[in-house]
Amino acid sequence: MAITRGNSLLAALPDKEYQKLLPSLEPVSLTFGETIYDPGAQIRHVYFPTDSLISLLTLVEGHLALEVGLIGREGMLGVSLALGINVSPVRAIVQGTGIAQRMKASRFLLEFKRSAAMQREIFRYTHTLMAQVTQTAACNRFHVVEARLARWLLMTRDRVQSETFRLTQEFLAHMLGVRRVGVTKAASALQRQGLIRYSRGNITIIDGKRLEAAACPCYEIVKDMHDGAPG
Ligand SMILES: [Zn+2]
Repeated sequence: MAITRGNSLLAALPDKEYQKLLPSLEPVSLTFGETIYDPGAQIRHVYFPTDSLISLLTLVEGHLALEVGLIGREGMLGVSLALGINVSPVRAIVQGTGIAQRMKASRFLLEFKRSAAMQREIFRYTHTLMAQVTQTAACNRFHVVEARLARWLLMTRDRVQSETFRLTQEFLAHMLGVRRVGVTKAASALQRQGLIRYSRGNITIIDGKRLEAAACPCYEIVKDMHDGAPG
């Protein structure tokens, strides 16, 4: 029960509505690297991560290109359904091993249609996810790799609520749309300044305050939107 409520979207629902959803929620373990949807694939389930992390990646000419969004305990995978679209526009890959609450798409649509509270929460979240994706587009174009890396590390930290997590170089390279050598350079620079420790894919944030200062402003802009969305 506590784990289910670990997802902010579910936690925001009135207790009565939440109890109604409970029998339809199935806890599943998501494993790092696992693909949940491919672009164009039918959305059969929605996912509410609790301590797992899901990355949204665009493909260019069939190759993984760039991370455009990150979904953790604050959100849900599959918001397209709420907009009347039942195929995924992007590839969704597990970036952080952990648990998500899964619900069948048909069930989700049924509950979504009859619950004003759920509609409000999901529309609000969809708005912040869109904001995240559009901000990321600008970020990828205008901000340097080191500042973008700092931003993604902070976004990951906020979602897994831990200063230590796993992120391989390959994943970081996709996230940032750069070659591995670019990731190594940026991570080494942050490490030299004493902001993070990075070893064999294990990242520890040593000085979060200074890492925030090293991140591009996109971190604060998107965070404020999540934190400050009016009720
Ligand atoms: Zn940026």
